[in-house]
Amino acid sequence: MTGEENLVQVLDAQMARAAQRVTRPLFGLPLQQLTAAVAELGQKPYRARQLAQALYRDWVENLADVTTWPKKLQIDAESVGFEVNLPRIAQVFTSVDGTERYLISVSGGQTVETVWMPDGDGGVPDEDDEPTMRPPQIYRRATICVSSQIGCAVNCQFCLTAKLGIERNLTAGEIAGQVVAVLKRQGIKVGRDRINLVFMGMGEPFLNYDAFMDAVRLLVTEVHIPESRMTVSTSGILPGIERFGMEAIRPKLALSLNASNNEVRESVMPITRKWPIEQLLAAIKAMPRRPRDRVTFEYVLLGGVNDRIEHADEVIQLLRRANLPGYVNLIVWNPGPGIAYRQPEPEDVDRFQKRLIAGGVATFIRRPRGRDIYAACGQLKKTAGSAA
Ligand code: SAH
Ligand code: SF4
Repeated sequence: MTGEENLVQVLDAQMARAAQRVTRPLFGLPLQQLTAAVAELGQKPYRARQLAQALYRDWVENLADVTTWPKKLQIDAESVGFEVNLPRIAQVFTSVDGTERYLISVSGGQTVETVWMPDGDGGVPDEDDEPTMRPPQIYRRATICVSSQIGCAVNCQFCLTAKLGIERNLTAGEIAGQVVAVLKRQGIKVGRDRINLVFMGMGEPFLNYDAFMDAVRLLVTEVHIPESRMTVSTSGILPGIERFGMEAIRPKLALSLNASNNEVRESVMPITRKWPIEQLLAAIKAMPRRPRDRVTFEYVLLGGVNDRIEHADEVIQLLRRANLPGYVNLIVWNPGPGIAYRQPEPEDVDRFQKRLIAGGVATFIRRPRGRDIYAACGQLKKTAGSAA
């Protein structure tokens, strides 16, 4: 072999190694896996606890910022490919109402959308929303709307995310990372500031069940956001609802009801053919209920489709038969390009709410937030330029 050939072989081998050098994201791993990671470096479990503190409480972006670690440990960790990999905010759109919509970079050069609503969305109030002894806080009910998938496979006819189809699931680190990236940007102190999380961004959480629940556990046990401040919304994935009921740690549940009978629901949410309304309500009813557990029924009002007075009466009957403690959240449909529905008339929204309340159903109207920047419900579409 000539010297030249030899050199080429050495370079090839180096390039192959470099190409194979997979980075190993740490953000998103539970303590147990962090413990395994440091054990690989010959370290005791307390180093993992230090790392967890740095990742989930101090929100470091680099291993060099883990101040409790000696420099050598940082270098050792990096040499085997470990890196923090906290998702980063790549772009910000700010609404006149204070809502901020972010494009957050995840691996593969893709982005997900996350929304910050400084005053919540006006839907179901928090249990302790009453102006009691609350200390002066910066935000009363700041809410972060979190995505669980890039795109969605469910194909609801009124939803812009549906138009994307499903691109991929997010990892637990990417789901929890959206929350931490936003908390960090907003200068939030968990424990001091009250934060609500709604898993109502892009995607169907129950079709990415394991990563979604891993993220929830991480946010509760490591980031210290109480599960009582979290709500997950599902389009009605029956096996997901059944599993969810068995979880020790779980957010509150919201069901996207969106229609008063199966026929209308099938036309707007074709997934109804697979799991009709009665089955979904029965599964929710069968969930072991915790004290103060209330189910939210989301109802997107589509002009002329599901906003008539007889629909309101059907909803009352449906929820009476189901006999579930819960609320209805009315959402005025947000229009989007290429979707052939119309918004309900304001007086119809008002009439619908009044009818439900008269029928004994607690009903709130969710204020559209950030409509001018396409951050409102169902408008999270991966079109970076569209809202600028
Ligand atoms: N995939 C889950 C969670 C994300 S969608 C689900 O469907 O429940 C969050 C909420 O936004 C759902 O209640 C959905 O019905 C609603 N939504 C979707 N598109 C909308 C639109 N264009 N206008 C208003 N609400 C919409
Ligand atoms: Fe998916 Fe929810 Fe949109 Fe339906 S409403 S397509 S489930 S994101």
